[in-house]
Parts: sequence; structure tokens; C-alpha cells
Amino acid sequence: MKVSKRVKDIEYAIRDIIVYAKELERKGKEIIYLNIGDPVKYDFKTPKHIKDALTNAILNDENNYAPSEGVEELRSVIAEKEKKKGLTVNPEDVLVTNGVSEGVDMVMASIIEQGDEILVPGPCYPPYSSYAKLYGGKPVEYRTIEEEGWIPDTDDIRSKISDKTVAITVINPNNPTGALYDGKTLQELVQIAAEHNLYLLCDEIYDKIVFEDNFTSIARYANDAPLIMLNGFSKVYLMTGLRLGYICMNSNSALLDGLRENTPKLARVRIASNTPAQMAAIAALRGSEDHIKEMVSKLRIRRDHLMKRLDAIDGLTCAEPKGAFYVFPKINLDGNRWKSDADFVIDLLRSTGVLTVHGSGFGKQYGLGHFRIVYLPPLEMLEEAMDRLESFMS
Ligand code: PLP
Repeated sequence: MKVSKRVKDIEYAIRDIIVYAKELERKGKEIIYLNIGDPVKYDFKTPKHIKDALTNAILNDENNYAPSEGVEELRSVIAEKEKKKGLTVNPEDVLVTNGVSEGVDMVMASIIEQGDEILVPGPCYPPYSSYAKLYGGKPVEYRTIEEEGWIPDTDDIRSKISDKTVAITVINPNNPTGALYDGKTLQELVQIAAEHNLYLLCDEIYDKIVFEDNFTSIARYANDAPLIMLNGFSKVYLMTGLRLGYICMNSNSALLDGLRENTPKLARVRIASNTPAQMAAIAALRGSEDHIKEMVSKLRIRRDHLMKRLDAIDGLTCAEPKGAFYVFPKINLDGNRWKSDADFVIDLLRSTGVLTVHGSGFGKQYGLGHFRIVYLPPLEMLEEAMDRLESFMS
């Protein structure tokens, strides 16, 4: 039977790569999975007050459909959180989604028509490109400067804006590079979007996972720019499996009136997000954040350790990540046996059992020649993976 080309072309390298690992596992090889950014799979567990709110909601029969836009109290506490970061947002401008992933889907569906272009960071977390393509759009990668810690190249952004461009995507802290953007860059991004009448899609799902420097939200500089903020509970609140996120529209921006009216239709047609998970999310935003401090300090130790090991390996160079839990080393492919980063990642997997993700899966232009490592696992596991990587490289 017929399958649409649109769907056949969908890619999600982070999970697509698992097929190779499962094949090896079936043959008895032990795999170290460093491909998925799921802290709850490792030694970061959902805080008790969040689990209690979830189970209490279930036991108290709060298992009904929620309002499509989200439970009212949750929309209020989300607005409070985002206001603290600098965004002007009323609860009515918050839409609760089944993860940021569904938020990306809804936003792309709302703003893209056949042939439209959307600027995405190069490299970029893949769903932004995949959903843009699904709705007939064309993702255009803008350069982020590796030598300067993967900061957006605003000149490159300006040069890539055409009369088909509808939006600029900003992911800060960034996946896959771990980059953290400075105020000046963020200010310039807002200015470019305002000058060219472009939507500004900003994903801040790692907003509290930063190491040395403080996090600055782009919202601080938004004024009345058409900024759409995407955020969620998966990473900072350790709720990956509960699938909850949200979209916030800048309440100061009249340019977003069309989306304000129409995007909720997409929320209605898929009925609602999970009700008990929304109760857990209220508890997450109202409760203690002690677990975040603990997580960040553990992650920092893991990052430092990984950087030390990577620095000592010939043939790899790596900018130090400032947030999130990924590193994105560059592979010296010159004179080596691998034809590409994908070839490298498969060879590494087959030879050592260490599963990472090829850089070109995050963007064919700027991700090329790199690979992504997740440093969520405990030190012993990271150490074992680095021993295997080191002997593979030598
Ligand atoms: N946005 C970014 C930048 C991510 O890295 C991820 C997951 O890795 C997501 C969104 C997915 O978020 P969610 O679990 O809320 O769908």
C-alpha cells in the first residue's frame, strides 16, 4: 500500500541509530548507550514530590480529559516561571503540550506552508528540521561558530534570510553542542527577527542545566517581538517519560495574534495533554528545586572528566559545553579510514559497543564530521566508554 513520501523522509538520528545497536545486542555484544538524553535512565530520578503528585492525581480519579489548552493552574504557574526569566506572558498565552516535541509539531504546523524556509541552528536538535519538512518547509542551517563555543553567527543568519524565510530557531542551552548564548548574541537575534518580521522560536528546555555562567533567556530582550517560547519538564524536572511541555507566546506581541487564535485549534483536535502528568508538573514548579542543584553538580563533574579524557585522545577536538548534557567532538577524518561521521559512529559501535550519534544527523552542513556523546551516565560507565573510545582511536 502507498506510504507518503513525507513520512518516508522523516529522520531522527538519535533513535534511528539504535537499530544497529539492537542487532549487535542480539548477537551477544554488550552496548554502552550514550545516544539518548534521558537523565531518568541513569542515576537522576524523578523527585518524590513530583511522583507523589502524579500518583495522588491517579488515585483521586483525576484521570479525566483536561482542557485542551492545559489545566488552568498549570498554565498560571508556567506563566510565573517564564515571567521570572523575563518573558511577558499571561496564562492565556500558554498551551500545554505532550512534551516540547508536540509543541514543535504544533508551531511548525501553524507557521509553515509549502516552500517556506525556516532558519535552524547548524547543528540542530533534529525535530525542528523534520517537522518543518513534514509541513512542506525547507530548514536552512545557519552557522554556529565552533571555535567560539558554537555561538550563532549572526552575519550568516542575515545572509541566509530570503523572501521565503518565516522563522529563526534558537536553542539555548543547545543540543547537541552544549553551547550557552551570551546577552549580546541573544539581543542581536531578536533584532534580526524584528527587522525581517520573522517568528522567533526559542527552545529553553535546558534552562536550569548550566555550569559556570548564568543562563540568560532571550525573553529578556524580546520586547514586542513575535517570540514563541518552547519549554518542558523532561530534563530539568526529570520527567522524560511523563511527556509534558508547553508553548508560550509573547503577550506583548500583536504579531502573534494569528497564532493565538489558530494554534489552540491544534490543541483541541488532539484533545488534551495527560491530566495526572499536569498535576505532577504543577508540583514540579511549586516544589523544591534541590534536585536541580544536585544534578548540575554531578553533571559538571562528569563533563569535566569527559573533557579531560577527550582532550587526551589524538584525532578528536572538542569545545567545552557550558550547559545541557552533551559534547560534540570533531573527528579528524583526514587520512583516517572513515568516509564520514556516520561511518565513524557505526565503526565505533561495531568495534567497541559504544553507541553515540553521528553529527550529520543534527544537520548535514555543520554537524558533518562530528559526533554527539551524552554524558549522563555515572563516572564508571563513562570511564569504560572512554577507555574503549581511546583504544579504538589509537
Ligand atoms: N528540545 C530539545 C532541545 C531537546 O534536546 C529535547 C530532547 O532531547 C526536546 C526538545 C524534547 O523534549 P520533550 O521530551 O519535552 O518532548
